[in-house]
Amino acid sequence: MEFCPECGAMLLPKDGILKCNSCGHEKNLADNNDYEVSEEIQESDNVKMLGEDVDVGPVTNETCPECGHDKATYKLLQTRSADEAPTRIFTCTKCKHTWRAYD
Ligand SMILES: [Zn+2]
Ligand SMILES: [Zn+2]
Repeated sequence: MEFCPECGAMLLPKDGILKCNSCGHEKNLADNNDYEVSEEIQESDNVKMLGEDVDVGPVTNETCPECGHDKATYKLLQTRSADEAPTRIFTCTKCKHTWRAYD
């Protein structure tokens, strides 16, 4: 017995496919893959490419305040006064959110 991945209702066979009477979701009987993985793979590929790019700066274990991802690249921004600590600009490797941190 198969259940709808969208709403959990029972799927009924109809014209060679399984169809959900509740939400209209259709499932091909020949296709036993429950998950569409193409999007997830694309996303992790992007992250890997970013990490190999020398222009984005070193990767550090900083948690993004926007999405909670724990990897970010950073650059140091030297302020005019030598007494002040340089400002670090973090860029989330996942959502590209940028934020500042002071030492
Ligand atoms: Zn359904
Ligand atoms: Zn983020």
